[in-house]
Amino acid sequence: MSMTRYDLQPMLYQKLPKSIDALTLCRQGGKPGKVISGKLDVIKLDNVKQLILDDGTVPLWAKLCFAQDEAGYAYIQGSLEVTLTLTCQRCLTPLEYPLHSTFLLSPISDDAQAKHLPQAYEPARLIDERWSIVEFISEEIILNLPLVPKHLEFNCKIKLDELNQVEPTVAPRENPFIQLPQKLNKK
Ligand SMILES: [Zn+2]
Repeated sequence: MSMTRYDLQPMLYQKLPKSIDALTLCRQGGKPGKVISGKLDVIKLDNVKQLILDDGTVPLWAKLCFAQDEAGYAYIQGSLEVTLTLTCQRCLTPLEYPLHSTFLLSPISDDAQAKHLPQAYEPARLIDERWSIVEFISEEIILNLPLVPKHLEFNCKIKLDELNQVEPTVAPRENPFIQLPQKLNKK
């Protein structure tokens, strides 16, 4: 299955379920896989909400394919796309941040199962046989946010050369007392 960002067409999307019986879906999906695509409002994800400036609806588009590989491992292949408003750490004004992420997971019920997963898969923890889509998306967004968001230089209200010009004048000043011992000696 190929997934490019152009696959994510908002018109086709329903609201994503909060959680899902991932293993059953993967088994049903088999080799071709079963695709669920949908959207959710990021402003309703409390952990993410604290990190963004947005206060209205923030639509996120996701596409998830539930399938089973040749070796019999159930897997979830997916992608998500959202644009968030962050604070630029240079000029402290809003910054539009387009976030796009792809992932490959395998649903597991306990840690022992996680240890035996092929390396290609990240474990997707099931709780009471259900995979929390909302929780996963929340974590995925947080993992993909920049540590120090900054505008590109030409978009930023503070220009790098301005910063460079300011710094040297603050930096080394002549210390008036350095000359003092010599002057005292002359007396
Ligand atoms: Zn900026």
